[in-house]
Amino acid sequence: MMELRNNLYFFYKETQQIKDKVDGLKEFAVNQGFNLVQNSEEANIIASIGGDGAFLQAIRKTGFRDDCLYVGVSTGQLGIYCDFHIDEQEKMLEAMQFEEIEVRRYPIISVVIDGDTEFYCLNECSIRTSTIKVITAEIYINDLHFETFKGDGIIVATPSGTSGYNKSVNGALIDPMLPCMQVSELASVNNNTFRTLGSSFVLNDDKELILKIKKGDNSYPIIGLDNEAYSIRSNEEIKITLPERRIKTVKLKNNSFWHKVQRSFL
Ligand code: NAP
Ligand code: MN
Repeated sequence: MMELRNNLYFFYKETQQIKDKVDGLKEFAVNQGFNLVQNSEEANIIASIGGDGAFLQAIRKTGFRDDCLYVGVSTGQLGIYCDFHIDEQEKMLEAMQFEEIEVRRYPIISVVIDGDTEFYCLNECSIRTSTIKVITAEIYINDLHFETFKGDGIIVATPSGTSGYNKSVNGALIDPMLPCMQVSELASVNNNTFRTLGSSFVLNDDKELILKIKKGDNSYPIIGLDNEAYSIRSNEEIKITLPERRIKTVKLKNNSFWHKVQRSFL
C-alpha cells in the first residue's frame, strides 16, 4: 500500500519577515489536510524555506534522509533546488499531495575522514588551504596514484552541485541523471617540478577518490561540506565516493535541471 505523504515539516531560519509568510503557508497547509509535525523525523515531506543555501542546510540538519521528499521553497529567486516561490501556495501543496507525484533523485557524495566519520554532500566537498600557503595532497583514483597536487585546493562536485562552486572554476555542468562526481582544481602550482592534470575530470560511481594531505606545512587545510566548513589540520586521508543514496525532490513539468540552469544563468 502506498504511504500517504502528508506529514509536513517546515525548515527555516526564524526571522520575523519569513515567519509571517510561513505562518500563512502553515495555515493553508493545515486547511488542505496536511499534518504539521514538530520533529523532522516524523515528517515524510520536509519543506525548506529560503534559497538554495537554506535547502542545503535543511538536508544536512535533517540527516540526508532518503525516505522523505524534500521541497525547496524560495523567498527570492528560484535557484537549482527551489522549485516554488513562497507565494505559490496552491501550486506547492498540490504538487506535494499528488500521490503519483514524479520524483527527482539527486546523487550525493560520501566523504569519509580518516576512515572514521562519514559526511554527505549535496553540492560539493572542497578541501582548501585557509592560509596563504598551498596544500599538498597525493591524489588516488582507486589504487592508482594519479597525481601530486599542490595549490589552493580541490573541489569535488555532485552533478547538481556543478552549477555552484564548480561552475566558478570553469567546471562543466553535469546532468543529475548521471551519477558521477567532478574533480576540479583551485589554483594548482604547475612548473618543472610539480605537475597536475590542469583540467577537471569526471569519475564514474564505481570509483573512489582518495586525498592524502601533507601535514604540518602551515596551510591549515579546511574541508567544506556544502555550506559548512571544518578544520582538517590534524587529519590525513579523505575518501570520496558516490553512495546509492539519493535525495528526492518533486519533479515538475518544464523544470528539468537544464530549465533551471537556463533560468539561473542565461
Ligand atoms: P553563499 O556563499 O551564500 O552563496 C553562494 C551562491 O551559490 C548563492 O547564490 C546560492 O544560492 C548559490 N548556490 C548554492 N547552491 C547552488 C547550486 N547547486 N547551483 C547554483 N547555485 C547555487 O552560500 P550558500 O547559499 O550557503 O550556498 C553554498 C554553496 O555556495 C556551496 O555549496 C557552493 O556551491 C557555493 N559556493 C560558491 C563559491 C563560488 O562560486 N566562488 C564559493 C563558495 C561557495 P542562494 O542565494 O539561493 O542560496
Ligand atoms: Mn545563500
